[in-house]
This record gives sequence, C-alpha cells and structure tokens, in this order.
Amino acid sequence: SFEVAEDAPEDLEPRAPIVTVMGHVDHGKTSLLDYIREENVIAGESGGITQHIGAYGVTLESGQKITFLDTPGHEAFTAMRARGAQVTDIAIIVIAADDDIMPQTKEAISHAQAAGVPIVFAINKVDKQTANPDKIKEGLASMNLLVEDWGGKIQSHDISAKTGLGVNELLEKVLLEAELLELKANPDRLANGTVVEAFLDKGRGYVSTILVENGTLEIGDYVLAGTHSGKVKAMQDERGKNVKKVGPATPISILGLDGAPQAGDKFNVLDDEREAKSIASKRSQLQREQSVRTQRH
Ligand code: GDP
Repeated sequence: SFEVAEDAPEDLEPRAPIVTVMGHVDHGKTSLLDYIREENVIAGESGGITQHIGAYGVTLESGQKITFLDTPGHEAFTAMRARGAQVTDIAIIVIAADDDIMPQTKEAISHAQAAGVPIVFAINKVDKQTANPDKIKEGLASMNLLVEDWGGKIQSHDISAKTGLGVNELLEKVLLEAELLELKANPDRLANGTVVEAFLDKGRGYVSTILVENGTLEIGDYVLAGTHSGKVKAMQDERGKNVKKVGPATPISILGLDGAPQAGDKFNVLDDEREAKSIASKRSQLQREQSVRTQRH
C-alpha cells in the first residue's frame, strides 16, 4: 500500500466542522436539513444550494462555516462507520418535542457516544401546541444526559424546523462545540477524505460526491477511492458551480472515476497513476476473493 505522511503542526489551519443530523423517523431531520439548505445562502455568493450531492456547506452570518452531511437518518452514518470511516465531528440529534425519546433516538445517541462524537440536541416542533420540550429534557436527564437548561454540559436548543425558530441559535451552539474540538487540516498537501455517495449518470458517467477532509483537491489529480481510480475531469459544488480546486472540509462532486466507490470508502490523491491503478485492482481482487469465501460459508 502507500504511506500518508502526518502533518506538521505548523502546517495546520482551522477547518469547518462536519456535522451529521440523526434522530427518530418523523422527528424532523429532513425538515431541518432542508431549512438550513434553503435559508443559509452564502453571503455574497451567487445562488442557493441547488444540487443534492449528499453534503453541503453553509456560511453563517458570523462568517463561520459548517459542512453538513445531507443524508438524514443514521443509515449513512452507520454504513460509513461500518467501513471504518469517521467523518462526523458533531452530531445534531433531533427529538420531536411532541413525542418521546424513541428507540432510534436512543440508537443515535449510542452511535454518537460510541464514536466519541459530541452531541447537540435539537428539540424540534416547538411551534406545536402539544410540544413539551421540558418532558424531553427530563427524559434525557433520566438517561444521564444533562442538557444546559438542566445544569448539565450538553448543548441543546428548542427549535422549529418548520418556521426556522431557533435554528440559527442551534447552529451557533454547534460552532461553540466545534471550537472546543480545535478542528484543523493542512490545505497544502494532496487531498484525502471520504466518499459520501456515488452513482452512474447516463450523460456524465460516474459521479462521486466526496468530502475532502485534508489537503486540496484539484482538477487533474489522480484519485484512488476504494476499488476505483481515475483522473478528476471536473468538479461541481452543491450550488452547481464548476470549481477547479477545493480545500479541507469541503464536499464536492467529481467526474472521472472508473466506477462508483461505496459510501464510506476512503479516497486519496496519488502522485503515481500506475500505483493508484494497481492498488485499486488489487483491492477489487481481494474483494472478489472475500465474496467467494463468504458464499462458500
Ligand atoms: P424525518 O423523518 O426525521 O426526516 O422527519 P421529516 O423532516 O420528514 O418530518 C416529519 C414530519 O414532521 C413532516 O410532516 C414535517 O413537515 C413535520 N415537521 C418537521 N419539523 C417540524 C416542526 O418543527 N414543526 C411542525 N409543526 N412540523 C414539523
């Protein structure tokens, strides 16, 4: 295989947090992600977010950035974790205030805890007459999860994903949590990161959304992603804009891979195209052998 050198501390620069939204079905994950996507049009940048590429970045009024994995539910999170990928820095767990702490809420909490990812609770649907945010916080307290209102340290905010009430404050709390993590990356190196989603487009060929976690990705770079590889021919962001290069904590759709890698696959840019191809083909061979072996058992 190949070596990825460690970054020297002086090469590191602050990067945006990467956030996943989790929670029980119907508690408002999609609504929250949609609200943020629609409302947080980057100041001074043309156009809103038009492409659903599996992840997007927003800039808050404070000028700070957050990158969201736009795949609600923890399927993506779990699939990625199963492949050893840990891309999320912070988890927003949405809980509907007119409901209870449900099985999938608990599951989301334990996934985040197992991954060592800090949680920010979004107590949602507070616009509803039947909403009872205190009951939810009490429920959390009984699980040993003390939110700030209850004298604890866990961030939580009452929101309505429908009206937008409290959403900006929620995001500010996410940024506070991010500050504690001192997230950093080195923009001045070959890129690496994780595949968010990939598919075959009739007109364009294989389109892969990847999250650049470290380094800078440029057109012409040779990418190895899981069992696939290829030269980056074009890159498009979530605003449908063609870009030539992207830095850390940026989601981007790329064209040029010779297949569709799986969500959670790691990607790396390699100097040596032949080496990348040979690693990709060795990995496919290994995968074939493994699938034969599991079929036999
Ligand atoms: P998901 O399954 O967690 O992604 O939940 P959705 O975002 O699809 O929301 C489930 C339902 O709750 C939808 O009918 C939403 O319109 C509704 N909903 C979500 N957030 C709110 C909210 O803040 N207030 C109200 N009144 N309804 C909401």
